[in-house]
Amino acid sequence: MSDENNNTQGLQLDVSKTFPPYGNLQQYRLAKITTFTCDRCTKQKTSKLVVTKDGDWDTLLCNGCYGWLRSDKEKGK
Ligand SMILES: [Zn+2]
Repeated sequence: MSDENNNTQGLQLDVSKTFPPYGNLQQYRLAKITTFTCDRCTKQKTSKLVVTKDGDWDTLLCNGCYGWLRSDKEKGK
């Protein structure tokens, strides 16, 4: 027996809203506030908003990094 489940980072993620994808990034709103570790800033975040990269639930980004990546890409080059 294990106290880990099959979900990402041991979380139970219940998506309540899927936002339009942005490139390989996909933002979701979860049904419950969830604590996760952001893959980019490596900080622990507690939010309903999570972002996956390449559809990979092992690679979760926080809303702050998502905004940063979007603005960075929009700058181009
Ligand atoms: Zn982050």
